[in-house]
Amino acid sequence: MNSFNINNLIRPNVKAMKAYSSARDEFQEINDNFVFLDANENPFNNGLNRYPDPLQRNVKSILSKIKNFPANQILLGNGSDEVLDLIFRAFCEPNQDNVIAISPSYGMYGVLANLNAIEYRKSLLNEEDFQPNIKDVFSKVDDKTKMIFLCSPNNPTGEIIKRESILEIVNRFNGLVIIDEAYVDFARETSWIEETKNYPNVIVTQTLSKAVGLAGIRLGILYASQEIVDVLNKIKPPYNINQLTQLKAIEILSDYDKVVAVTNTIIQQKEVLENALTEISFVEKIYPSDANFILIKVDNANERYNQLVEKGIVIRNRNNDDLCQNCLRITVGTELENQKLIQTLKII
Ligand SMILES: *Cc1c(COP(=O)(O)O)cnc(C)c1O
Repeated sequence: MNSFNINNLIRPNVKAMKAYSSARDEFQEINDNFVFLDANENPFNNGLNRYPDPLQRNVKSILSKIKNFPANQILLGNGSDEVLDLIFRAFCEPNQDNVIAISPSYGMYGVLANLNAIEYRKSLLNEEDFQPNIKDVFSKVDDKTKMIFLCSPNNPTGEIIKRESILEIVNRFNGLVIIDEAYVDFARETSWIEETKNYPNVIVTQTLSKAVGLAGIRLGILYASQEIVDVLNKIKPPYNINQLTQLKAIEILSDYDKVVAVTNTIIQQKEVLENALTEISFVEKIYPSDANFILIKVDNANERYNQLVEKGIVIRNRNNDDLCQNCLRITVGTELENQKLIQTLKII
């Protein structure tokens, strides 16, 4: 059993600081009867002359209904990138603490660790099934280990991290476990959001960049305990989600059936693509995918990658990632794009 206490993890300077008090914190609703002369805004209405809601209540209210999760335990960021950076800044002391992440995985964890002067310890996945090597993970934990990053479904492998593995890590580790669910909408397994109630050391992150189709507006989402969300709200830039982003998110999330329909189309197209790839002679392995991309092993990744670029098709060469020698990562496109890819693979 772990003895988790969030107060032992928060950086002393973060504990001690006071949040910036913004004008829009005090008078949240733009009430037509009020005269707002408090924030040095331009008074002439053009739809965007006022500062946005710092707590994005309308966006969170829709997310709360879709995800069946309390709105005040949601934090929004300028992409997952900002959300992850806030976690580092709240809990990891520069030049002192360390974090652990599975490898291969999403490159931003390491970038953010470097940026925040936090030691980054990689734990290789098992080669056979791309699942965490629990023994290895815990061999890297010491009393300065603040967080463990798990990405599920994992990028670039595409596979979901098994529930038992995540549970074991969550149960045994005294720090925070960050579960990055950027691709969860494409997966057969359910989200860990619900479990943040039972496991106060779990933080789940999601994004509108993938299944929801809004990479351009930059909106990352974090679900966690009230205590964790309170700390992050205290340190985040007051107006980190701009008004245009909030409005677009509300518009698209309001028709969530449509989002689900598009997600299902992508999942179907992934199956079509997987089948077609089995017929390409130089494809040696197609890894199972719970995401909107497929990792394949080929005879020579660098050569095949360049051949595709010459034909105007850009995929991702993962040859230099751990355990990914000669691997290429292919995002599932539209039916037409996928057909074009397959036709090209057949002739190169
Ligand atoms: C694409 C992706 C994200 C999304 O990042 P945003 O900053 O929200 O666009 C997060 N995590 C992983 C693993 C991803 O692949």
